[in-house]
Amino acid sequence: LQARAHEARHEPASTVDGHQVEVCANLGNTAHTPEAVERGADGVGLLRTEFIFMAHSEAPDLATQRAEYAKAFDALDGLPLVARTLDVGGDKPLDYWPLPEEDNPFLGLRGIRLSLTRPEILETQLRALLTEAGSRPLRIMFPMVKDLAEFRAAKALVDRLREEIDAPDVQVGVMIEIPSSALLAPTLAPEVDFFSIGTNDLTQYTLAIDRGHPQLSAESDGLHPAVLRLIQMTVQAAHEHGRWVGICGELGSDPQAIPVLLGLGVDEFSVTSRRVPLVKACIRNLALSDAKSLAQLALQQATASDVRDKLEGA
Ligand code: PEP
Ligand code: MG
Repeated sequence: LQARAHEARHEPASTVDGHQVEVCANLGNTAHTPEAVERGADGVGLLRTEFIFMAHSEAPDLATQRAEYAKAFDALDGLPLVARTLDVGGDKPLDYWPLPEEDNPFLGLRGIRLSLTRPEILETQLRALLTEAGSRPLRIMFPMVKDLAEFRAAKALVDRLREEIDAPDVQVGVMIEIPSSALLAPTLAPEVDFFSIGTNDLTQYTLAIDRGHPQLSAESDGLHPAVLRLIQMTVQAAHEHGRWVGICGELGSDPQAIPVLLGLGVDEFSVTSRRVPLVKACIRNLALSDAKSLAQLALQQATASDVRDKLEGA
C-alpha cells in the first residue's frame, strides 16, 4: 500500500464516486516546503509561524520574515499557503515576549488574544506575509479565535495594511479550535473566507483534557462524538455560506477518522507532510456516500470508544 500510495502521490485525492478534496501539508519550517511538494501536497494547509519566531532570539524583523515566507512561496510555485499568525502563549513560550505568570496559561493570554495585546508584532508579520505574497495565493489564518469580535479586530489590521501597501485580495480565515467558535460558526461564517479545524486544541477544550497529559492520552480522542458534533456544526455553517473547511489537527491523518471527516464534509485535509501520500491513498479508496453514512453513525454514538468500535466493524 505504502509503495502504491507513494507512486500515486501527485494524483488528486478523489473518492471512487468522484468527490475531490485537497490534501495539504502542515509545516513549522519553510525550508521543508520542497519536500512537502515532492510528497504530493496540494499546498501548505498550516504554516505554524511561531516556529520562525522561536528560532530567533528577538522578534524577526520584516526582512527576516519575508525571507522565510519566500522559501515557502517559491517552492509552492502557485499552490496555496495557509499561514497561521503567531500562536504563542499556553504551551508555547517566546523568550523575548515575557508573559505574566498565570495559574492557567492554557486558559490565559495566548493565540490571537495575545497578538492583539501587541498589535505591532502582528502588524509586522501581516505586512511581511502580504508583501512577500504579492499576487501569490496567500491565506491568512488566526489562531485561537473564540468569537466574531476577535476575528473582526484581527481582520481590521489586514484590511488596513492591504490598503496601505496596495496588496491584492487575500483569503482570511480562522482556526476552529475553541468550542465557542464552533458553536458560533453560523455568526463567523458570513465574515470569514474559510475555517480550519484544529482538532488538537478543539479536543482539549471540549473534553477538558490536557492534550499532552500522559495518563489521559487514551481518553483524549478527537473521534469523541462531542468533538464530531462541533465539527459537523462548523462544516454546515461554512457550506451554507459557500466557505471551505479544512482540518489541520492530528485527527486528519488518523485512518479511522478520515472517512468520518470526509463524510462530515471537510474540504481540505492538512497533515504532517510525510503522511500526505497515505492520506490521499486512503481517500481514493472511499466512496463519499459510504463516508456520509459512517459520519452519521459516528455522530449517534455516546463515547469515543463506541465510535471506534462501530468504525472497526464497518
Ligand atoms: C490544533 O490545535 O489542532 C492545531 C492544528 O494547532 P496546534 O497543534 O499548533 O496547536
Ligand atoms: Mg492549536
